[in-house]
Amino acid sequence: MLNENIAELLFPDVRHVPADIYSLFPPRDLPSSALVTRFAPSPTGSLNIGGLYATLISERLAHQSNGVFFLRIEDTDKKREIEGSLENIINSLTYFGIHFDEGPQLSGDDKGAYGSYKQSSRMQIYHVFIKHLVRNGLAYPCFCDTDDLQKIRKSQQDLKVTTGYYGQWAKHRDITFEQAKEEILNGKPFVIRLKTSGSSDRRITYHDLVKGPIEIPENNQDIVIMKTDGLPTYHLAHAIDDYLMGTTHVIRGDEWLSSVPIHIQLFETLGFRIPEFGHIAPIMKQVGASKRKFSKRKDLDGTAEYYKEQGYPGVSISEYFMNLINSNFEEWRIANPHQSFRNFFIYTDKMNASGALFDMNKLDDISKEVISRLTGKEVFDHLYTWSKEFDTELYSLIDKNKNYTVNILNIGRAFDKPRKDYSKWSDVKPMIAFFYDEWFEKDVLNGYKLPTNVSLDVAQEIVLGFSKTYRSNNEREAWFQAMKELAGELGFAKDMKQYKANPDHYKGHIGDVAMVIRVALTNRTNTPDLFDIMKVMGEKKVLSRMKTFFGDSIQTT
Ligand code: GLU
Repeated sequence: MLNENIAELLFPDVRHVPADIYSLFPPRDLPSSALVTRFAPSPTGSLNIGGLYATLISERLAHQSNGVFFLRIEDTDKKREIEGSLENIINSLTYFGIHFDEGPQLSGDDKGAYGSYKQSSRMQIYHVFIKHLVRNGLAYPCFCDTDDLQKIRKSQQDLKVTTGYYGQWAKHRDITFEQAKEEILNGKPFVIRLKTSGSSDRRITYHDLVKGPIEIPENNQDIVIMKTDGLPTYHLAHAIDDYLMGTTHVIRGDEWLSSVPIHIQLFETLGFRIPEFGHIAPIMKQVGASKRKFSKRKDLDGTAEYYKEQGYPGVSISEYFMNLINSNFEEWRIANPHQSFRNFFIYTDKMNASGALFDMNKLDDISKEVISRLTGKEVFDHLYTWSKEFDTELYSLIDKNKNYTVNILNIGRAFDKPRKDYSKWSDVKPMIAFFYDEWFEKDVLNGYKLPTNVSLDVAQEIVLGFSKTYRSNNEREAWFQAMKELAGELGFAKDMKQYKANPDHYKGHIGDVAMVIRVALTNRTNTPDLFDIMKVMGEKKVLSRMKTFFGDSIQTT
């Protein structure tokens, strides 16, 4: 009766009991092998790569078992909230192809039958459970202010005992109805604390999905479950939500490992089935010879957004993460080069229990592989979308020249072993910009990058000779033959063997001739196949570039 009175005093407006809530959240209709997982970020900034990694694991576990993966926003700490975080998180998940079946949408609506998926909209639910705990003597109001807590702490330090609010130190543990009523009439703010039955002398054991068997002391603190503003703490809210939303497996960063005793206690106290837990070590960054955690403030490359801005395709990041999740993915990928990574089954017990190292070079290699499997048109579509947001100069070049750009991007793709030169969309512009006159004309104002062993006069002879013999309808063989002839006429060796046998006899070799033409055409010394470039540029552009090479206004270096 006593507790009933306190419960009524604190929550006069809460009329429901847990059973009413359970009827709104029926168990999910899923086979027992299906996992229900979630990503439960607090909206305190942009998504970091560690979060993205954990999320991919959760998403894969759910979907590979035909279960459900949902997004829940844990926004009960209004002080830490940063505007725009939710949009950032949703946009990042979309970009990286991590599909959530239920959760908040950009439109502001919710998708799914277990909402709201924003904790700030679930206050009435939490209050029902908090009132229920108070009514059953499992929680109580605490009117201690910071001063009181400070005093308790000081005494504990003097006595060299564990600090905190517990046992005999928990001043309001046995508060009576009258005392509580008086405090409330005096307008004293209060929190609600869990009346723990845990003891630090006892240990809980559980099997962590990633870290294996874990043994830690029980929670012996009367933790706060509702703050003075009436909002529940993360600990309480997440337990209620994970239960009502049917979460079977909680995958999260290992900074939460030490909270497991609190969480298990809350699940037990509330009479909820305890989910499986898997705690992932943070992804580490290589700095010189040592490894360290990514820093929120210092490391731009620690955010998911960075990889989007750089233009890594979302699937490259997922493919790379799959390698970190289970190292046998690499073998599987080689055996199944054309399958979606989603056909590979991940296992939490095969994961690295200590922090995986983020290896940029490996990511680049994987991403090159991913992009090499795309058609020129697919690369174009990605580049178009990406450049619109992140490189307006490139966007305007390719927007004006759509078909031409697709042809450019098709170079070297129609083979069994396609080119692997781009790891991200920001790699593309430096490699293809020369194709566009707007860009090329500006570039050559700074001079042509001719090979040093060929004088300008000779280079001009080569370009002139080439212009005369060039026929755009020549096929590769004839085209190359004509170039060889030209080389011979101008005193260059027609092939390397000839040249090597008698170098003094020649001005240079066929390679030098081709290089001069390459430079006149592109002002680059390293390009894809020259013949392919000319085919894509077409006769008019090829000849106009040759002409430009002689242009008065253009200085050659
Ligand atoms: N909201 C918590 C966070 O920000 C979620 C922890 C959990 O997954 O239980 O990381």
